[in-house]
Amino acid sequence: MSKTPITVAKGDGIGPEIMDASLHVLLEAGADIEMEEVVVGEKIYLQGNTAGVESSTWESLRRTKVFYKAPLTTPQGTGFKSMNVTTRKTLGLYANVRPSASYHPFVKTKHPVMDLVIVRENEEDLYAGIEHRHTDETYQCLKLITRPGSEKIIRYAFEYAVRNNRKKVTAFTKDNIMKMTDGLFHKVFEEVGAEYPNIEKEHWIVDIGAAKMADTPEAFDVIVLPNLYGDILSDVAAQIAGSVGLAGSANIGEGAAMFEAIHGSAPRRANQNLANPSGLLLAGVMMMVHIGQPEVAERVHNAWLRTLEDGVHTYDIFRDGVSKEKVGTKEFGQAIVARLGQQPQTLKPVSYAKGENKPLEIVLKVLPPTKKELVGIDVFINWNEANKNPNVFGDALTSKVQVPGFRLSMVSNRGQKVYPGGSPETFCVDHWRCRFLATEGTISHSQITALLQTVADAGFDFTKTENLYTFDGEKGFSMGQGE
Ligand code: NAD
Repeated sequence: MSKTPITVAKGDGIGPEIMDASLHVLLEAGADIEMEEVVVGEKIYLQGNTAGVESSTWESLRRTKVFYKAPLTTPQGTGFKSMNVTTRKTLGLYANVRPSASYHPFVKTKHPVMDLVIVRENEEDLYAGIEHRHTDETYQCLKLITRPGSEKIIRYAFEYAVRNNRKKVTAFTKDNIMKMTDGLFHKVFEEVGAEYPNIEKEHWIVDIGAAKMADTPEAFDVIVLPNLYGDILSDVAAQIAGSVGLAGSANIGEGAAMFEAIHGSAPRRANQNLANPSGLLLAGVMMMVHIGQPEVAERVHNAWLRTLEDGVHTYDIFRDGVSKEKVGTKEFGQAIVARLGQQPQTLKPVSYAKGENKPLEIVLKVLPPTKKELVGIDVFINWNEANKNPNVFGDALTSKVQVPGFRLSMVSNRGQKVYPGGSPETFCVDHWRCRFLATEGTISHSQITALLQTVADAGFDFTKTENLYTFDGEKGFSMGQGE
């Protein structure tokens, strides 16, 4: 059988040391891989390439479709795009999978029985990176949650649970506040979950869910999250399990996948043979399962568990009384190699069933198109006069902007309705959302153009607009607080 080609980047800081140690273990365990090495990150950024990736790297990745990547240093300062985000988006790696387990009593943790997997949506949410400054005082970041994006990650989470013999999938959202975006994620979770009667399902509001996870992680199994919450909570999970140095992650797409440690390049620890290679090695274990070599994954993972049990520890997890030998990066790798074929005695051995690496085919539900009708427009205006008195602003707008077919329904400031009939205590900034609704039925785009022309002629500086639609008669926009 021919070797499986993979693209390898040794990265920056501690990257080369932990990659060498990890590859040594994988190859000694029988990994049947052919490596194409690429250079990404700091060296490429400093050559003036703001994405940190050369075209030859994309060619290699498109060929191998498997990326084993050590951490990179993103130079400080504006203008440099995170290579990780670029790779995820360019290759469509929609699922970020991060197992976090504790290894009590061998690695210090407050949570001895923790074993959960975070499945984080990787491509949308606030990480679409669409940000604008509207006024002196107001900046915005667009939160995009889509039905296909949500459905893909949620289906992935349930399929992952089935394949990995997990019993429960939990979703975290903030849909009590973001009823449309997080509400969609929650709704799709319920829809998809209904197709998996043998998997337990639950939903938590992310704030209390996060608190519960940090306090009682053993209550969770697989957790599926939109991008931002997933980013934050996967680090919390890794940290409370014992160390961010121990967790690996997989970024999975339909065509390609990337495997990496969750930690960064720890430049202060570089070139001292100190860093713990475990996170990258466990990412390598996930990679071996992915490329259809689960027996290698199993051998490496069990030998690694045995090494932890034997008290052979790098500095970050070394503890007097528990640890037996403090070793460097290279020696830790050698200790694992010496234990290949052995099983842990106290920790539970892992088993990676054959066949679970079959490519996951996510088939999205096709929904019938809805009847979409334009019923109004939100016009955002930059106005900074008269001590930002909402009544002065609202009255001026009402008297100067009179366009047939529209009525000014309300003005809000940072989402809070302030006109008509606002509360004098509401603090206002220079950014006003003015909602014009159709006096009856629907309006046309040309009526909107006429409205905006009138707004401009009246001397108001509009900074953006949002069309207001109904979908099959259901409002496609939220109400103002207090509306
Ligand atoms: P970091 O994860 O590199 O380091 C945080 C702390 O954890 C440090 O005290 C470090 O000594 C320790 N640590 C991390 N990994 C360790 C390991 N394997 N063994 C022992 N100790 C370890 O985070 P940072 O300092 O915020 O970031 C440094 C650089 O890494 C930045 O340029 C950042 O952009 C980059 N970064 C890259 C990735 C990635 O490539 N995936 C992820 C996060 C950060």
